[in-house]
Parts: sequence; structure tokens; C-alpha cells
Amino acid sequence: MSERPIWLSEYDQMIRPTSKWKINDPNALKLQGPGCEVACTYCNQAFMDRNDEGMRLSSYLSPYDGGISVNTHLNVDRTEVARIEEDELIQELIIYPYLLPTTPVVINNFSDPGLNWTESIRLAHRIHSEIDHQSTTIFITKMPMSQSHLDELEGFKAEGGKPLVVVTYSEMPRTIEKASNPKRIKTMRYLHAVGIPVIASLRPIIRGMNDSEETLSTIVNSIAGNVDAVIYGGLFIDPNYTLQAFAKAGFNLDPEYVKYMYTRAKHLPNDIRDRVQRIIEPQKIGAPLYDHATCAVAFIETVKYSQPRANRMALWVNGRQTNFHTCGNICSQDQIGQCVTAHNRPNEVAASDAKTTLSKIDPDGRYSSLGFIPSITQSGMLLIENGALNILETMPIMEASGKRIDNLPDREGFLFRCAEALSNYLGIDSSVIHDAFQVDQEWVLVVEGDLTGDNNVLATRYVRTNSRCRCHIIDINQYQEQKKAVESLIRNGNI
Ligand code: SF4
Repeated sequence: MSERPIWLSEYDQMIRPTSKWKINDPNALKLQGPGCEVACTYCNQAFMDRNDEGMRLSSYLSPYDGGISVNTHLNVDRTEVARIEEDELIQELIIYPYLLPTTPVVINNFSDPGLNWTESIRLAHRIHSEIDHQSTTIFITKMPMSQSHLDELEGFKAEGGKPLVVVTYSEMPRTIEKASNPKRIKTMRYLHAVGIPVIASLRPIIRGMNDSEETLSTIVNSIAGNVDAVIYGGLFIDPNYTLQAFAKAGFNLDPEYVKYMYTRAKHLPNDIRDRVQRIIEPQKIGAPLYDHATCAVAFIETVKYSQPRANRMALWVNGRQTNFHTCGNICSQDQIGQCVTAHNRPNEVAASDAKTTLSKIDPDGRYSSLGFIPSITQSGMLLIENGALNILETMPIMEASGKRIDNLPDREGFLFRCAEALSNYLGIDSSVIHDAFQVDQEWVLVVEGDLTGDNNVLATRYVRTNSRCRCHIIDINQYQEQKKAVESLIRNGNI
């Protein structure tokens, strides 16, 4: 019998191991600050993965939507606080069940891989040559690249590696981001010229800082003809950190960035999103513009590396319909073809692949009784019957099956995930929960009051994210009318 709880935390050692770190100084784990000496004001490493005592818990291997994040070291600003030997990291990666041969690996993204290109490229070589890894190796950087490192990266590609360099560039002022804009533009140009795929990551775009037509046009002129794809995005905010950090750097963020914000979240106002889409014209840049990095990576694999892949997060799922009609406006026909093929996989075949992958990430057999059934309201989605897996656990299952995977939990699992969401995201005790009931394949949580002051819209979002299942919240004080409305939504195939 496993001693681990049935409801895994995302910090579980199976998912995000930390036990092999060599800690240089335990006190340094409590240091506050950015993830490396580049010290960008918006650095999310300054607030991510900390326990209640403020100690960093980041793992050397962690799944996220982009792939598996592989890190040799943890830094706080200039101080290296933990390191894992490369040999040990490779051994850990070999047995890591979340890495499928088709999963991208992301090198040293808790700092900047370009601060030590030699180490980062060497690690990429070793992963390629010592592990059955056929997918892209991603470097997310703001650093310049010397000719010798460029040669090394070309050598990696010549040996069959699939490097993909994501250059973060959004015309930030030097007070917010010290790395040089002209140098990284040059890096993009070099990489593109020698045939190493490069994605310009226009992140973060922030109101009043780099969202004007003029700045966006400067970006267009800088990257036109020099990149293979473009992604954009908003600011990742921690309500207890980000505002103060920007104010300290001399910039006051618009109050909209924390309105209705209870927990960490990314924010890109809709009018800025529209402006980016209007000005960053794919025809001018010579590359597609995506708002999801996973779409851009799938596109690079399919089109630039002739290694056909669907988006590993199955982002086309959207209620009874799909999003393919909007994909047609941004994506290549070859890539859409891959995603459509995954979407159309017979459910029995996809469920069998899902089950095989589930057993891979579940060596103790805790999930052995769980099966997969098709959703009746979400086209192309499979549900884990009686499952309450966290989102990180569903990622390799989605990748292997080609389907979007959600839970259809039992009552116990649903209530557990709801209580966790209310406590972690909203700081609300689970005593507000009155009841829960199921309507077809969706759950309804009954709570006392309007928890987020917006008819529980935000609360629903957090509960959905955390339970990874289709669910709704109703207020016990408006039980009858809200119950009716929710039941009708579910029965009419809401999205
Ligand atoms: S087809 Fe759609 S979901 Fe698939 S990669 Fe392209 S934009 Fe993304």
C-alpha cells in the first residue's frame, strides 16, 4: 500500500521532485528576489513555489503546459541556492514518468539559460543522446549569443537535436528589464538566419508601458523576417508582490491589474489584446501570431521540424463545438490538420492510450480503477470517471491521448478539490460549503453567499481550475433560481 495520500498535492515528490537538490545554504532558500541576476521586475520566480515559511520549493523537474522544465540550479538573484549534479539530473529524467518521448523539454527556465550557454547546451546534448527524447529542446532567453555558442547550437541540431529558442522581447524599459533589446534582436536574427527556429515572445505587454501603437510597431519592425512564430501575453501578477515591485522600479501599474484579484494570475486587458492582434500582422512579420505558447511549439515541431504534433493541451476544445474556426485565422493548414486528426481519434483508442499513460504516472496503482469516458457536452474531451487528478497529472495523459482530459470526480474528490481551491486561492474556510450535487456529467457546489462579490464568477473559475472538472457554484440564499439556471446551462451544452 502506498503511504502517499490519494489526493496528490502538486508538490508531491513524484510530480515535482526536490529531494536531490544539494542545498548550498538552507537559509538562502528563504531569500526573496528574482530567479537570476537579470532581475526583471516582473520575474515570477520571486513569488512562485514557496511554502508557508517562504522557502522555495521549486523542483529540478516539473511538468507544465510547455513541456518538462529541467533545471540544474536554483538562484535568487546572483546567489545560487541549490544545484543538482548533471549526472544525477539525467538519471532522474530517465525514470521521470511525466516525460514522454514527444514532450518538449525546457532548459533552465527558472533562471535564464543564456547566462551559461555552455552548461545549457551541454545539458541539451546529454538529454538528446542519453534519453529517448524526440521532441524539441526549448531555451527561453533574453541573453545574447556569441558565435561559438551559436555554432554549438547548430552542432546540436546537426546531431538530430531540435533546438527551439524563445526570445522574450517586448520593448521593456531598462528600469524593468536590464537585458539589452538590440542584442537580443540580433540573437533572433542570427538564429533565424542559420535555420534554428526562434519564437519571439512578446511578454509581458503592460498598459502604459509597452502597449502603445508606436511601441508595438517598433516590435514589428525589429522582428519582421527574423522569427518563425510570435507569441504574446500579459503580466503574471502576485497581488502581494507585483504592484510593490513595479512601484519600486518607478512605474505604477494601473489599478485594473489587481481588481478582483485574489491569487496569482496573468492579466492582459482585452483592448490591449485587440491592439496586439491588429498591429502585429503575420504578413508583415512573416510568421504566425499565437496567444498560446503550446500552439507555437506544436507549429514549430510540425512545420519547421517535420515532426507532426497536435497541441499537447488540446486547446481546440470549446463546448459542443471546437475552436478550429478561429484556428483557421492564425495557424497553418498543416498544423490545423494535426490538431483535427487528434481531435478525431476514436474515443476507444484515445482512452486506451490515456489509461496506459495514467498507469505510467501511477506506479503505486492508486488510480488503477479509474477509467475514461467521453464527455457528452465537450466535443473531443475524455473524462476520468471518479478521478480528481490535479492538472499537472493530466498533462501527459492529454499528450498521449490527443484529447482534452478533465475529471468527473465522485463527491468526495469534488469536495476535496473545492475546499482546496477556496482555501488556497481565496483564503476562505471550507465551512462555507453547504452541499454538492451532480447534474449529468457536471457538479454543482452550494455555498453560503457570494464569495467573490461577482456572483461567484471568479470563485467558479478557481474551483474549476483546481478540480479540473466541469462545475458551477450556486449561493444557498438564491438556491431555487440559481439551481434552475445552472441545470438549464448544463442540459443545453454550456461552454
Ligand atoms: S490548430 Fe488551433 S489548437 Fe492546434 S496549434 Fe493551431 S491554433 Fe493551436
